[in-house]
Amino acid sequence: MYESEKKSLVDTLRKKGITSEKVLNAIENVERHLFIPAAIRLHAYKDNALPIGYDQTISQPYTVAFMTEVLNLSEGDKILEIGTGSGYQAAILSYLEMKVFSVERNFELYNRTQLLFDQLGIRAVLRCADGTLGWNEFAPYNAIIVTAGSPDLPKSLFRQLAIDGKLIIPIGPKKKQELKLFTKLSDEKYSVKTFPDFSFVPLIGREGWKE
Ligand code: SAH
Repeated sequence: MYESEKKSLVDTLRKKGITSEKVLNAIENVERHLFIPAAIRLHAYKDNALPIGYDQTISQPYTVAFMTEVLNLSEGDKILEIGTGSGYQAAILSYLEMKVFSVERNFELYNRTQLLFDQLGIRAVLRCADGTLGWNEFAPYNAIIVTAGSPDLPKSLFRQLAIDGKLIIPIGPKKKQELKLFTKLSDEKYSVKTFPDFSFVPLIGREGWKE
């Protein structure tokens, strides 16, 4: 289903600068229409964020592809996602054979996505909790991906990142953020790269926005 729409989405992402064939292949093969409400499925393969209920959105495919590409992961890497939402980003990471752990604060979304993953046989491990505190039990992670916008870098997340691990997070005011890619050099040191002009829903929690 949606074969020509999928191909044209991949073309669009190539034109916007995504080069990883693995990532493009994942975008072509993961059925994004299954992660969004039935009423708006027609728009599933356009390069747009879409509403998924509870004032939340499924991220734009370009953003998902970009964040996945810059993390430069290998098969079997352990990755923590904060903000499961629809589960689409987690499904892309699972498709790429990462070990995916994902935390969502909204119980209804967590529950709905867990049911969907059970139906689709996606083996990401989900948890309903405040993800600004990370998920200490399975730390350290080779990578951490935060899919909601934060005022700052949550210290717990940096602590749970492995040395040489990468953490990508939108940081900035509530309406517009920069994506920051941190590479952990030691327990105290990191290098950072910045990519401007992204827009995410807020990360709400103890080490994020206080609502
Ligand atoms: N990765 C998602 C994007 C969802 S939007 C996708 O592919 O669809 C961001 C999500 O982050 C929302 O579902 C929101 O409820 C969640 N969120 C916000 N603050 C959070 C927190 N502190 N911990 C976990 N999830 C959080």
